[in-house]
Amino acid sequence: MPENGHSPTRIQQTVRRQVSCSGIGLHSGHKGTLSLKPAPADHGIVFKRRDLGGLEIPALVDCVAGVHYATGLARDDARVETVEHLLAALVSMGIDNVVVELNQAEVPIMDGSAASFVYLVHEAGVAALKKPRRFMKVVRPIVHARGAKRIALYPADHFSVTYTISFDHPLLRHQTRTLRMSEEVFVEEIAPARTFGFLKEVEILRQKGLVLGGSLDNAVVLGETGVLNAALRFEDEFVRHKILDAIGDLALVGHPLIGHLVVHCGGHALHASFARQIREETDAWRLVEQPADPLAEVGPAAVPAKGAVSAG
Ligand SMILES: [Zn+2]
Repeated sequence: MPENGHSPTRIQQTVRRQVSCSGIGLHSGHKGTLSLKPAPADHGIVFKRRDLGGLEIPALVDCVAGVHYATGLARDDARVETVEHLLAALVSMGIDNVVVELNQAEVPIMDGSAASFVYLVHEAGVAALKKPRRFMKVVRPIVHARGAKRIALYPADHFSVTYTISFDHPLLRHQTRTLRMSEEVFVEEIAPARTFGFLKEVEILRQKGLVLGGSLDNAVVLGETGVLNAALRFEDEFVRHKILDAIGDLALVGHPLIGHLVVHCGGHALHASFARQIREETDAWRLVEQPADPLAEVGPAAVPAKGAVSAG
């Protein structure tokens, strides 16, 4: 039986009050302000461009418009860039419904991790709504391979992630980690892990107009043999950040997942195309109103699970 008792809440939630933060965009280098505002049940996570008259872009895989070095969304004439760290924090902290208002096109990078967004949600507080949350429960494996890159989702009783990375760099030949996710695990083990990049790629990216806001204040930068930053936050900060990215990108399926996500050498492109594949393989999951039947763990006298609904 689980010791911690921290199974995800079964009702939808939003933020209790409006909160804001400011910072620069990693790629644009532009300073902007982000506000989280309460939203009603079944609203979902929706970005809103205040500078474009309030054009809205839902955080759904149908809106994915860019997956190079960060995940971007677009609808009509509005875009929003680098959404993944914020989305990871929102879904991991149980925020199903929220308006994310921006006054420019990129979510501020803050310190390159999700720690600032965790702080922001704690500042806002969480409010319960009157509708049940619907989880996406995986009932058969979903698998995607692209050369050496692989990503899969397997049936499980809870949301877990196993991530493995392997780069041609002495510090990154092999890192792997498996975590059973909960809000506490996300906040302590994953949220502080920062974006990373290779020094030799920085000039190339800048010529393409990317990472213009990047610095040692918001990214771990790897030189030929080591990191340029003063210290890492975790010995395996890199693979932890990949888990953060995967949680944020897979948030685009629109429901909290119940299943075991296994990724080998992934990136935003792989995560986002897999999120689309999950949505398309509708026989591989069901929408359920509780993560697992809690009584089923007690004994054979358990009542049948209530609230299961068909995926349709
Ligand atoms: Zn990232």
